[in-house]
Amino acid sequence: MYDLADWDLAHAPTPAASLEPALLLNATYEPLRVVSWRRAVVLSFIDKVEVIDVYPRRIHSVSTSLALPAVLRLRHRAPLRVREVPFSRTNVYARDALTCQYCGDRLAPHLLSYDHVLPRTRGGRTDWSNVVTCCIPCNRLKGDRTPEEAGMPLARRPHRPAQLFLGSLGRLGIPAPWQPYLPAPAG
Ligand SMILES: [Zn+2]
Repeated sequence: MYDLADWDLAHAPTPAASLEPALLLNATYEPLRVVSWRRAVVLSFIDKVEVIDVYPRRIHSVSTSLALPAVLRLRHRAPLRVREVPFSRTNVYARDALTCQYCGDRLAPHLLSYDHVLPRTRGGRTDWSNVVTCCIPCNRLKGDRTPEEAGMPLARRPHRPAQLFLGSLGRLGIPAPWQPYLPAPAG
């Protein structure tokens, strides 16, 4: 087993925890998941995995250095297991890009709330298809009504995010080396 403890950043101002993650592709080049840089380094030493692209950044150990992996590919096709994106407040905010789905204001998380499109009191479920990011004033204004009743149309219909969920990349955005392997931007 490769010992990751030997690796660290030399002369790098960025805290190691915030290094760029890597995109892991199936043998058929379909994106499988996003992995942390630590995991990516470990994977890059495994024969079953091929490094397709790297970042300009290098990481160093005592004896050698390595370009930080940006895109990795499994040499043999992994059975596609559907990994559902867990439903949570944070993931709803990420899906909606911290934007109130009624008035379009983009706000810090502590100024946001979430809204049941069909109110809970009327059987609305707490899931991806019925919960949207909402600012506090819109939440109060809408109250126990549907968007139609309140005259507050939704920016878009809520849905479960795609298997490969990039919302959590936050301010990092989508790294350039990943672009050729990603489908059209997730809506
Ligand atoms: Zn609002």
